[in-house]
Amino acid sequence: MFDHHVHSTFSIDCRVPMDLSCQAAIAAGVTEIAFTDHVDHEPADPGHGFYRYEAYRAAIEDARRRFGDRLTILTGAEVDFNPRISAQVEAFLASTEFDFVIGSVHYDLDGELIYPRTFTGRSLDDVFRPYFADVLAAVETGWFDSIGHLDLPKRYAPGTHRTYDPLAFRDLLRPIFAAMVARGVAFEINTSGMRQVPRTSMPGPAVVRWYVEAGGRLVTTGTDSHAVRTVGAGLGTTLAMLGLCGIAEVQSFRGRTRTPVPISQLVPVAHGPA
Ligand SMILES: [Zn+2]
Ligand SMILES: [Zn+2]
Repeated sequence: MFDHHVHSTFSIDCRVPMDLSCQAAIAAGVTEIAFTDHVDHEPADPGHGFYRYEAYRAAIEDARRRFGDRLTILTGAEVDFNPRISAQVEAFLASTEFDFVIGSVHYDLDGELIYPRTFTGRSLDDVFRPYFADVLAAVETGWFDSIGHLDLPKRYAPGTHRTYDPLAFRDLLRPIFAAMVARGVAFEINTSGMRQVPRTSMPGPAVVRWYVEAGGRLVTTGTDSHAVRTVGAGLGTTLAMLGLCGIAEVQSFRGRTRTPVPISQLVPVAHGPA
């Protein structure tokens, strides 16, 4: 299985060194891990200026020396994106090399981190419409291999699993899917939602199904782990869900080039009646 969204000490909000996550990945049956630490260009972000590319590369090389015989370790980044910081993001990506780059929208229209307070005095519509506009802009740059946690605001919406219905935003997802298909941009199934309030991955199965209906096939999988215990968590369920939604492959990456890998190769136990 592939865990293509794992944080390490190169993210300001994570204290788990790569070694511990590599050990946890091997124990969880993960065969390929990508360390996708936060790259934040929003001046107000607590992680602004925290990321150290050269030290990150050295840590990856060290992890590969220790674990490379049992685990494929990819270089990656979770690059925060919105149109206000697009010039800085472009410059960063032009001056760095990775196997795999996630583009994630974390900020709202006012330049504030999307968080429970984002919903104060706002409807779901008020939050999701500008959010999805920024996601569409991220896809249209063509700079990212995969889009992170496609419906992130649902994690913070009040009473979310009662009030969030992705059907209400289907008109916003259509142009995003069209742009993804046209540009060959994937999105991830981020399993952190399964262990948090939404109790479903980001995105969940309905959205995956609409993407398939729009002709999309490119999906990556990641746990968004900031803790050892969550490395690999929910990936087996996710692969089964993808199969049910009509996705037969997940994507692997080397040097920003993707290779489809059949899900049937990743799931050790065949589906079907016991
Ligand atoms: Zn994120
Ligand atoms: Zn993340």
